[in-house]
Amino acid sequence: MTINQSGWRPARPLEGDAEPATFTGNRALMLEEPLIFEIGSGATTGVDFDAPALPAGGLGGLLRTAPIGLPGLSEPETVRHYTRLSRQNYAIDLGLFPLGSCTMKHNPRLNERVARMPGFADLHPLTPVDACQGALAVIDQLAHWLVTLTGMHSVAMSPKAGAHGELCGILAIRAALDARGEGARKTILVPESAHGTNPATAAFAGYAVEDIPATPDGRVDTAALIARLGPDVAAVMITNPNTCGLFERDMKTISDAVHAAGAFVYCDGANFNAIVGRVRPGDLGVDAMHINLHKTFSTPHGGGGPGSGPVVFSAALSPYAPLPFVEKTADGFRLVEEETAGEHHAGSFGRMTAFHGQMGMFTRALTYILSHGADGLRQVAEDAVLNANYVLRSLQDVLDAPFAAAGPCMHEAIFSDAGLAEGVSTIDVAKALIDEGFHPMTMYFPLVVHGAMLIEPTETESKAGLDQFIGALRSVAERAKAGDPGLKTAPHHAPRRRLDETLAARRPVLVWKEPVAAAAAAE
Ligand SMILES: *Cc1c(COP(=O)(O)O)cnc(C)c1O
Repeated sequence: MTINQSGWRPARPLEGDAEPATFTGNRALMLEEPLIFEIGSGATTGVDFDAPALPAGGLGGLLRTAPIGLPGLSEPETVRHYTRLSRQNYAIDLGLFPLGSCTMKHNPRLNERVARMPGFADLHPLTPVDACQGALAVIDQLAHWLVTLTGMHSVAMSPKAGAHGELCGILAIRAALDARGEGARKTILVPESAHGTNPATAAFAGYAVEDIPATPDGRVDTAALIARLGPDVAAVMITNPNTCGLFERDMKTISDAVHAAGAFVYCDGANFNAIVGRVRPGDLGVDAMHINLHKTFSTPHGGGGPGSGPVVFSAALSPYAPLPFVEKTADGFRLVEEETAGEHHAGSFGRMTAFHGQMGMFTRALTYILSHGADGLRQVAEDAVLNANYVLRSLQDVLDAPFAAAGPCMHEAIFSDAGLAEGVSTIDVAKALIDEGFHPMTMYFPLVVHGAMLIEPTETESKAGLDQFIGALRSVAERAKAGDPGLKTAPHHAPRRRLDETLAARRPVLVWKEPVAAAAAAE
């Protein structure tokens, strides 16, 4: 077979590039990679089977007549294509991943070992209950840990991500309000410091969303929130710790006022990693809260999944929680799949998913919990907070830290673009960090801080690793303050430079079209 190498073309030298372009477009061992369609053509094939002898009319006239349009590559060519692409990615297994709000921590290999045990990995969701008692025990034990750690009453395990958990909580709140004839409550209050999924969830569930302002020290304006409570308010959604990396200290005062006004408290608990073992949200008056298993309890995530967002409920909301759930009986575990009149779950609002949730994430999270133990989990939170404060205090002299004067942060440190040279902005700092070998921090979020840079180191980074990251960001920050023009064209060493992200989002090109061949075009 022939290899169509039309995809290989020298990289264009970019403005401001000191390095000459290479013939291949490769930069040392960082290999350039075209689309698979550009490497292999439909005219070639990676296999040499004889043409099949088809029985005449055997396919009922459905025999394909046009080429299938897949590039024909051999096995080594295919392996190399995907391996080259994978090398252009950044991963938690390569280095520190400072994305704020995402909790990119190391995933212990022990979790993976356990998740791959055939009894868990090969489980079918329709396996008869008496043949998967061990798996149900895992779900039940994890549920017990989650309820205990949060000081809540019950937990719904099935939601498949944080945002899915938020929807689960809001639907339970709606069912509870309907049950007491207060379905007319149509407003959900969301502080400015909440995660963006909160207002999106409330709107998706059909509620009007109202912002509650933040105070200058980055917390919810408690007085403004309490003043807004009334008979139209169904719930408030509070992220705690919030997206400025700060603990909402007035949580109990807020919950009491919300309950007195007949509404419910939803807490976005995706950042539970900062308080696990130290604070029980149940003690703060929370009615529903999702926990991102894929953040607090490790388990690999990013790039869209997989996730798992169990929701813990207060006693008031438990009767409205979704099905199914696992129940321990005298002779083993059973799955409760339907509402039963007179039972404690009779008011259930329905289901979030067809089956029982993300089994692979349950096994990973429970492994993580059991290998840390209660005291270990508490240390996870303490070390995550310690590391974030180390980053905050190590950089506050070169980067503006808007809330640094108010005291320590929780699990993430926030900086703004104040003080960068004219014309240099947050995105330039982030792009220059790529040249230093780090994935950028979360940028321009939360919105309450101008040009925000949100950094969450997590507890799994060593001091040496943190020092290297701090050194890199410090050097970039110094260049940004001095107005180094090289920052505007960074990254200089990455396989791709500055992409038109707006155009890519607005007009994505999702289908490859064969370019008009040069010869045909010349005619
Ligand atoms: C990550 C996160 C979410 C959303 O979780 P997903 O699993 O991505 O849906 C919601 N709120 C906060 C505070 C988060 O950090």
